[in-house]
Amino acid sequence: MKTEFVDVKMQTKQCTKCGWIKPLYEFYGPGYPTKDKHNGYCIDCCKDKSKKAAVYSKSDVAIECRKEVISALRKDHIFATTGKASQWKQIDVVAWGCVKIRVAQSNPHNNGKFMWGLRRGGSFWDIVDLVILICNWGDRKTYHVFSKDDPVFFTERGRKTGITFNPSSAWQISTVQHGPNLTSQMMKEHENKWSLIEKIRLLNAG
Ligand SMILES: [Zn+2]
Repeated sequence: MKTEFVDVKMQTKQCTKCGWIKPLYEFYGPGYPTKDKHNGYCIDCCKDKSKKAAVYSKSDVAIECRKEVISALRKDHIFATTGKASQWKQIDVVAWGCVKIRVAQSNPHNNGKFMWGLRRGGSFWDIVDLVILICNWGDRKTYHVFSKDDPVFFTERGRKTGITFNPSSAWQISTVQHGPNLTSQMMKEHENKWSLIEKIRLLNAG
């Protein structure tokens, strides 16, 4: 296992159509009469627009929150797409073409708690790297990034199928049945913790 830090700063390029700065492998090439021998339009922009529209055509909450995560990431210069646009169709969001992210959103329930369902079938949890929990506070949303292996996702008996956060409680309740709760401190520490994405990118790229 590699432990030393290796600077693998990715070669990037700005798409002249959509304007996103993307990794060079998101452009067709080499073989184009450009300076870097790659197409000026990114692959997404080159592909048939109607195909793209079909991918995004279902307008439910899940799709909406995936899009919101993607634009939040892009705002912080992290390139991300939906899993559907990648080789991992069952993954919600894929960052840098290799970081697989499970996205779950919760509105506060009437007891003030946020609750996220995390149940997924098959080998989903073998594939995914990170979990982004979204709190929808009404007037704004906050994004909390966790490793899929964070102890908070486990009870003594295995992976949780759901997790709760009670913003009004200072206490972390931990039971054998439900395992540890998320605390305000944990949520704060993991808010916009995009450094986890970079960590996984380096791991998966190496
Ligand atoms: Zn583009």
